[in-house]
Amino acid sequence: MDLREKIRNIPDFPHQGVQFKDITTLLKDGKAFRVAIDRLAYHYRDKQINVVVGPEARGFAIGAPLAYVLGSGFVPIRKPGKLPAEIISQTYSLEYGQDALEIHKDAIEPDSRVLIADDLLATGGTTLATVKMIEELGGKVVGLAFLIELLFLNGRTKLDGYVINSLVQY
Ligand code: IMP
Repeated sequence: MDLREKIRNIPDFPHQGVQFKDITTLLKDGKAFRVAIDRLAYHYRDKQINVVVGPEARGFAIGAPLAYVLGSGFVPIRKPGKLPAEIISQTYSLEYGQDALEIHKDAIEPDSRVLIADDLLATGGTTLATVKMIEELGGKVVGLAFLIELLFLNGRTKLDGYVINSLVQY
């Protein structure tokens, strides 16, 4: 199945000049959704992943089913003020501005094997902030999984040394 055909391009969203990749068209298609998750999971079947970490909000839609298939736990990364227990946070720059992300302090066990999952790798800012928090808590980042990678934004350069898998590249 060509997953690229299931992704919709929205010009000038959320700003003029941005070609937004909309995955809701892929997610609503049961077969395509399953194929996407199964293809990502295949890369990590032998990697003894303890937890999949997914950033709000589209990282939940990819990370949670991926965790289920792998038999791993799922840990959410959230925007400031959303997590109820003790947190650590990390500021980051994204394609359209700056923000911060938070994770529960007790979400990652020391030496646990962590897979980070999100819908899309753009500049890598979101993922790098996530990597920093996981490593600060003592986790080992085993892989980075994305449905989509925007190659022209060079996110890989920022994430040098980490193993990246993406299913569709632009
Ligand atoms: P980065 O931090 O620049 O790599 O941006 C990646 C984050 O921004 C991800 O969490 C994406 O969900 C979101 N994002 C950036 N561009 C797009 C897009 O075209 N479609 C969907 N999400 C996007």
